[in-house]
Amino acid sequence: MKKYPISEFFHSWQGEGCHMGKSAFFIRLMGCPIKCVWCDSAETWKPGHMPDTVERYNAEELLQFAETGKFEFIVITGGEPTIHDLTELTTTFSNNGYKIHLETCGAFKIFGKFDWVTVSPKWASLPLDENLNIADEIKLIVEERDSIKKWWDIIKPFTKTDSVWLHPEWSLRNVSEITEAINFAIAEYGKPLRVGFQLHKLYNAT
Ligand code: SF4
Repeated sequence: MKKYPISEFFHSWQGEGCHMGKSAFFIRLMGCPIKCVWCDSAETWKPGHMPDTVERYNAEELLQFAETGKFEFIVITGGEPTIHDLTELTTTFSNNGYKIHLETCGAFKIFGKFDWVTVSPKWASLPLDENLNIADEIKLIVEERDSIKKWWDIIKPFTKTDSVWLHPEWSLRNVSEITEAINFAIAEYGKPLRVGFQLHKLYNAT
């Protein structure tokens, strides 16, 4: 079976988006070529932050770790998980009755079968139209006052979801220029924009 490079796996709860607060089992894969300066999972790709050795597990092994019955769904995240072919991983979990969620920047073709797809696009590598079209929710990181309008112009023709979250970039969450821009955008554009937040960081959950 295919071995996947894994940064970590853990049972916690979803801190963002439509499934916020729900119990979940997270599988974080190694690797991301996008290299956002504010990346909060740099240990998956940044030299000097990565572990000396990377653990590799196949789908059956990961299934054994997840076999607790305590959570509502699996979250496949990263890094950027779609740089890996996730077909074997998702098929194994799906065949065992698990719902599978994906967190991706949307810049790469997706291989795998998912029950829920969250696309959080990044400027360094724009999302594929086909991924915006299948997104169940979209998460936009607001790091500049003008970024909401620029993102909205790009994604609006393709997105069918009624949940487009506006998250302040975490280090800027108390900067009034950013929060005011989010307030303004909700008033200006209305649906499907929503105010978002990374609740797990307030709780110090992973
Ligand atoms: S796309 Fe995601 S994982 Fe990759 S560098 Fe940006 S924030 Fe980090």
